[in-house]
This record gives sequence, C-alpha cells and structure tokens, in this order.
Amino acid sequence: SKLVYFFGDGKADGTASMKAYLGGKGANLADMTLIGLPVPPGFTISTEACAFYSEHDGAYPEGLRDEVLTNLRKLEKLMGAKLGDPKNPLLVSVRSGAAQSMPGMMDTILNLGINPDSVNGLIEKTGNQRFAWDSYRRFIQMFGDVVMGVPHHDFEEILQSVKNEKGVTLDTQLDVDDLKEVISRYLALYKKVTGKEFPTNPEEQLFASINAVFRSWNNDRAIKYRQMNDIRGLLGTAVNVQSMVFGNMGDTSGTGVAFTRDPSTGENIFYGEYLMNAQGEDVVAGIRTPAPIETLRKINPEVFNQLVDIRHILETHYKDMQDLEFTIQEGKLYILQTRSGKRTIFSWLRSQVEMVNEGLISKETAVSRIPAGEFGKLFAPVLDGSDIKKKGISAIAKGLNASPGGACGQIYFTADKAEKAAAQGKAVILVRTETSPEDIGGMAASKGIITCRGGMTSHAAVVARGMGCPCVSGVSALHINYAKSTLEVAGRVLKEGDFMAMDGFTGDVYAEKIAVKPSEIVQVLGGNLKEEDSRLYQDYKAFMSYVDEIKDMAVRTNADTPEDATMAVRLGAEGIGLCRTEHMFFGGRRIISIRKMILASSTEAREKALAELLPMQKEDFIGIFKAMGGLPTTIRLLDPPLHEFLPNDDASKKEMAEQLGVSIAVVEQKSAELHEFNPMLGFRGCRLAIIYPEILRMQVRAIIEAALEVKKAGIAVHPEIMIPLVGIYKEFDYCKKHAEDEISKVFAEKGTSVSYKVGTMIEVPRAALTADEIARSAEFFSFGTNDLTQMACGFSRDDAASFLGPYVNDTDKQFYDYDPFTTIDIDGVGKLLKIAVDLGRSVRKDIKLGICGEHGGDPKTIAFCESLGLNYVSCSPFRVPIARLASAQAKL
Ligand code: ADP
Ligand code: MG
Ligand code: MG
Repeated sequence: SKLVYFFGDGKADGTASMKAYLGGKGANLADMTLIGLPVPPGFTISTEACAFYSEHDGAYPEGLRDEVLTNLRKLEKLMGAKLGDPKNPLLVSVRSGAAQSMPGMMDTILNLGINPDSVNGLIEKTGNQRFAWDSYRRFIQMFGDVVMGVPHHDFEEILQSVKNEKGVTLDTQLDVDDLKEVISRYLALYKKVTGKEFPTNPEEQLFASINAVFRSWNNDRAIKYRQMNDIRGLLGTAVNVQSMVFGNMGDTSGTGVAFTRDPSTGENIFYGEYLMNAQGEDVVAGIRTPAPIETLRKINPEVFNQLVDIRHILETHYKDMQDLEFTIQEGKLYILQTRSGKRTIFSWLRSQVEMVNEGLISKETAVSRIPAGEFGKLFAPVLDGSDIKKKGISAIAKGLNASPGGACGQIYFTADKAEKAAAQGKAVILVRTETSPEDIGGMAASKGIITCRGGMTSHAAVVARGMGCPCVSGVSALHINYAKSTLEVAGRVLKEGDFMAMDGFTGDVYAEKIAVKPSEIVQVLGGNLKEEDSRLYQDYKAFMSYVDEIKDMAVRTNADTPEDATMAVRLGAEGIGLCRTEHMFFGGRRIISIRKMILASSTEAREKALAELLPMQKEDFIGIFKAMGGLPTTIRLLDPPLHEFLPNDDASKKEMAEQLGVSIAVVEQKSAELHEFNPMLGFRGCRLAIIYPEILRMQVRAIIEAALEVKKAGIAVHPEIMIPLVGIYKEFDYCKKHAEDEISKVFAEKGTSVSYKVGTMIEVPRAALTADEIARSAEFFSFGTNDLTQMACGFSRDDAASFLGPYVNDTDKQFYDYDPFTTIDIDGVGKLLKIAVDLGRSVRKDIKLGICGEHGGDPKTIAFCESLGLNYVSCSPFRVPIARLASAQAKL
C-alpha cells in the first residue's frame, strides 16, 4: 500500500481525516494545501513506515525508498530546484509529527540538502551570502545533534566563543567570515565526535534524517511524554519532508507562532509572537525574546493582515482554537503548521463557552472537548492579594504571564533538585534560565516554574500550561549562577531553598513567602465573592449548564461533615454516596466513649458506652441531613477494625487508662487481643455489627432519630443505611433484621415514621458473584471499589506501591494500563461489577446502583460506570464537577 503522500500547489494525496497515518502535522499540511493556504510543498511518510522501522530493527518496508525518491523528484520538479544542486539547490526540512501532538518531543531537521557545492548555489540563487552560510551552519548543528548525537551544548559553545572573540552578543551580528569560522569549527567537532566526515551527499543526508526522525519516536523523552499524557495505541511518527522557506534571509524575513485565541485566558484575541531574521526553532528555544504579534502590524501591515485573515479562515475551518507556525520569507507569508491549540483549563473554558455563543460549535462539542482530567485545576489556589497588601510586599521582577495560577515555595535551579525536594514534601518553585525537554520530571514536581528567558510559546510556557502548573517566563531581571546555586535579582542574592512566590496571571514574581488562597470559583461558591465580579465563575456556570443538559448519571459526594456536604452541594452533588461514620468517632469526648465501648466486657457495659455516643452521632446526622436538604444520603455503618480506635504509643495509652479509670495493663491487653495479622481481612465491616449488634442498633437509631427531627423541621430527608463488607446474603439479612427492628422501635416511640432504604456495599468478590441472593433483601448496591480491587487483584492497598508502579509504568511490563486503584481495572474488577449489576437487576429490576470508591471521581472509570448504566457515581467534593463533566462526556 501507499506509504508516501504528496502535498503542494493546491493539491494533496492526503486529507485531514488521515491523522493516524499522516500524523496531525502531515494531515493538516495536506488539508491547508487543499483549502488554498500558502503551505510550502512537500510529502509525508506514513506512520506505518515508522512502525515497520521500529519493529524491524531499522529496516524499511518494501518500496519505501523508491516512493520517497519518486516524491522527491516530483517536489524538485514543482519547485524548479534540485536537492544538492550547485546552481539551483532545493533545501528541505525533515519533520516529525504523530497523530497526537507531542510538541518538541521528537526531532526535526531544517535546511537539509546543503553542502559545500550547494551553498554556493544558494548564494547565486538568493544573492544573500550571510543567509546561505547561516543556513549551512544551522544544518550542521541540527544534523550533528539530532542524527548523530553530537552534543548540542558543544555546538553552542563554539558559537558562543566565536561571538565572544568578535565581541558581539547576538547570532545575527555574525558576518559571513564569522559564520565560515563557526562552520569549520563545527565540522571539526563533528569529525572528532563521530569519527566521520560530515556527509555531503544530499540523499544520504535525507535518509539519515528520516531514520533519525523515526527513531525519535522511541527516545526517552517522547516515551515519557506519551506516558504522562496517556497517549496510547499510535503507530509511530510520520515524517514530513517539506521544501524550506527562510525566515533568516534578513530584516524582511522572520518566523513566529500564533494562537487564534489567548491560550492562557481564552480571550478572543489574536495572540502570538515572532522574531525577525530567524528560523523556526529560535522562537521556541528562547534564544532571543520574541516580539508580540501586534507589533508586526507596523513592521509589515500586509503580512499582518494576511495572518489575521488566515486566523479566521483556520478557526472557521477547524472550529477550534488553532496554534499555527508561520514564516515570512522576504515579505512573503507561509504557513508551516496548524493544530488544535494546547491551552490552560481557563482558556479551554472561556474559548468553548464563547464559541458556543458565537454559534461556531454546539454545546455537545464544547463538552466533549474540555479535558476532564484538567478540570479540577479551576479550583486550584491563587496568590492571596490581601496577604501581599498586608505585608506591604511588591514584586521584585516581572515576566510574562505564561501559565495561570499562584504558587509559593522554595526555589531550586535544576529539575533534578526540584524533583528531589518535592519528593521530601517541599513546595518547590523551579527557576531556570530556560527549560528543555529533559526538565519535564522536575517541572511536573514543581508548584510553579519561572524562567529568565523565553516567550509565551517557549518550552517552559507550553509545557507548564499543559501541566496546569503556574509559570512566569522571560523574567530578564533574574540571573542564575548555576555554579554557585544562587539567583541574583534587583541587587539581592537568593540561595537554593529560599522562598519565592509567583503569579501566573500577571507575570509578577516575589522574593517572599506569600499565602495562596482558594480559586475564584471556590470563592463565589463559598459566598466570598459576587458572581457578577467573576467572569470565570460565569463561564463555569454556563458550561456546567451544558453538562447538566447532557448527562444522566447522577453525581454524589463522599462527605462526613456538614461543611463538606454543603460545599459538595454547591459543586453540584446530587446526594451523598458515602458518609463514613467512623470519622465521627475521633476527637474529644467521642474517642473516650468509643474506647469505653471497646473495653466493655458485657453487653450492658457496651450499651452504656454506646448510649453516650448516640446523641453525638445524632447531631452529626442532623447537620448532614440539613446540608443535603432532601437529597439522598447514604450512611455507612461502622467499618474499620476496632483497634484503629486504640492508642499506639505509651503516652496515649497512659492517658487512655487514666481517662477510663483502668490500669495500663488492661489497655495493653485489649490492644493485644485486638491485634490482627491481616486487619483488612479481619474483624471489621458488618462482622462488627454481627458480633455486637448493639453497635449497629445505636447507629441506626441515631440515623432515624435525626431523620425524624429534620423531617419535623420541614426539611425533606432520604436516609440510606449501608451495611459494609457483606460477602454472603445471610450477613446482610442478619444486619437488616436488627436494623429494621430498631427502626420500628424508634417509629413506635416517636409515633411517626420516615422513608428509608437499607442496602449494602459490594466490595467482597463473593458478594459480587452472589449479588442476586443479596438483592432479594438489599434495596441498593454501592460498589466499594477500593476494597473490591484489593480483594479481587490480591493487592494490598497499603503495600502495593513497590511493585504496582513498575507493573504500570515499566515499558517492558505494563501489565495494567493504569493504576488499578485509580482507574478501574475493567477486564477484572470491572467484570465483577458487571456480574453484580446483572445479577442484582435480575432479582430487583429497579435496584439503585452506585460506586463510591476513589474510582468514582476518575473520568475513565466514570465512562465505564455509564456503560453499566449505574444510577450514580460518588466522589470527594472537589471532584464532583469533574465527575459531572466526565459523566456527560461518557454519554456523547
Ligand atoms: P515541532 O514539532 O517540534 O514544532 P516542526 O517540525 O514543527 O517541529 O519544526 C520546528 C520548527 O522549524 C518550526 O518552527 C517550523 O515552523 C520550522 N520549520 C519546519 N519546516 C520548515 C520549512 N520547510 N521551512 C521553514 N521552517 C520550517
Ligand atoms: Mg511545530
Ligand atoms: Mg471498604
């Protein structure tokens, strides 16, 4: 089958829909050619060729070489120039580009085809000596680095020393002779490192570069990037061979990147930056700080207007914010790439809501696009302005507001050290002159990133936005001394480990500790900021209304206090899926009472201790029922093993003995009695209620008495009593009998009643497999997927990290696609869910089904729950909006 696809002159073999084979870049180059945009012609080698190359130790699939050469001849014909020609040379770029964008992760080589002969042809053709030698220099550097692994740093050092010798600071200040000098030193370096002469045969250059791009698919940083961004199942990278256009031909030439809207805020403005007399990589690499796009209006209004037109053409065509690369060659504009723009969650939200309002996209499209995994960042903290005012602090320097959010932490100057400090639990700000792909690990571990050089589209800015990490870039007043590990700014010297704060919304950086405070949305929800004063909140509200129109699975929350419950309701929770009662037994008098109960040696003594707990539990439930205002509330009866309530150290044991008026020996003996080798599989869950029914009775009484009181106050109330850790229906039936008996007593005492449900958690595999038997008397199931995963996979939740990390991440293993405690293991644990759902419904058609493990807030798990037709998912309060979004997305 065909492996190479040509594009040029308004025609293309490929289309926009062929991303899997042509990569995003290749497919869009074809597509833009077809819609008449000025794209330099070229051809794209399919990702299938890369897959073959990787699987066959660097061999080509049959016919690839010929197809490449045929397309090269076609390109030469169209361009009227020949690769390596001493009179009229064609130069090409060899560009990577996979189906999903992985910016800067793989390799690209520019100016290919240059050699000692064709450099003269280039001079003859363009009449521009400096440009020709500059291109030659660049080619040697890129080919040497990317294809042959000659350290980039060594090339930079040569360039720097020639600049020093000449006494200049910018590359553009080097003249022809200087460049020739650089080239001869480059060639010597190349030979020294590789042991070979630099290849002069352009076809040899071409195939070596194609191979290097193929190989870059599997370089460490590309692999890490795919892992971090959960990019799976792609064949490899495509390779785009494209005729060069030159931004380095002098002052009427240049190169830049632009976004059709602001990637930081989402505002509908043309946004970008460019450098005159420069080539592609210069903008991203942060070599010089580029100029804002708006200034191009003055420098070249014609090109500027053309770009603005293209901005609109691209948005109307792709119906999303685009990120485009352009080059101006002697006043003529070329478009080199477009893709859906990477942006912050703030930008996602605003751009999608505005596009819906503009009529460009549907609400469904908006909902489908916003990355649910990022959504939680909307609720992330910002710098506390009042703390800044109070302390009378002002910013020590200012850079570009490259990625929003506030951060404060200790500064480190290398990614490595940042990563280590973060691992010790420190809040870290990574400060670097500029970042490069090797720094990814340290960037991910940092609360904020500051760079001294580079613009809004520099590596640091792009990556930080992708990670949702606040970033201020291009703070030129900062000077790092890497050797001394110090940072100089405005006459001050900061050491590693000192505190800095940064504001990614404004670009301000501070050499002080500053408090960070909740996000705007959280402030509005908490009543501390007016809705009309927050456009972010308004966009959020509009967007969530689209979400609620689409989704039909309910989202509940896991909450144990009225405060959490209240916040969750504001965040859109439609009930409580899990209220853990044991959290209510800690603290103050309560722990004393429960310890009394544990020490009790008779039922009467236990009942007496429980009677002390009853009013406290009841108060808790009243608070929660009121906060929920009539929404269903699932309360789980006591679950953990009792020894969790006993003290561990001697001092606390002594205190307990004194409080309860017993000897330390009694306390110690009880501890020893309750000791278990495998407590998670021990005396816990419904097993407690079965051996000590009085515990269950007290809790059920507290729930029902609270419900009656709340109902009496005119507030609707829907308690759901949940029995944990059931494995066999007899356990459930036994507990339910006690519960109902106690409930009818309460009803009789109070002379009134309230509706309620009794159901169970499905968290023991046996329960899932016999769910039909349990469903005969259980009115609802809630999947406790933490325990269910632990028991189904045989992974101790508390001990699995040592092997589970490698199981998921090591490239030679990857036994599980995701950590099964984060994303449900669909094939195993998921099968148990499916069995339980089917069996449960076979007996009780309308059985209420939900999930309440950590998985309830995980978008991929939520999609699975939607496919099972569960009634609800339940998660912690701040994941509620994420779950709502994921639940809507699962329906689309
Ligand atoms: P990446 O995926 O890392 O962005 P690209 O393949 O897009 O790599 O290329 C890197 C830089 O080189 C970009 O700025 C791009 O615009 C520029 N570039 C690529 N091909 C050409 C070309 N044929 N002419 C001029 N500039 C090019
Ligand atoms: Mg690019
Ligand atoms: Mg459990």
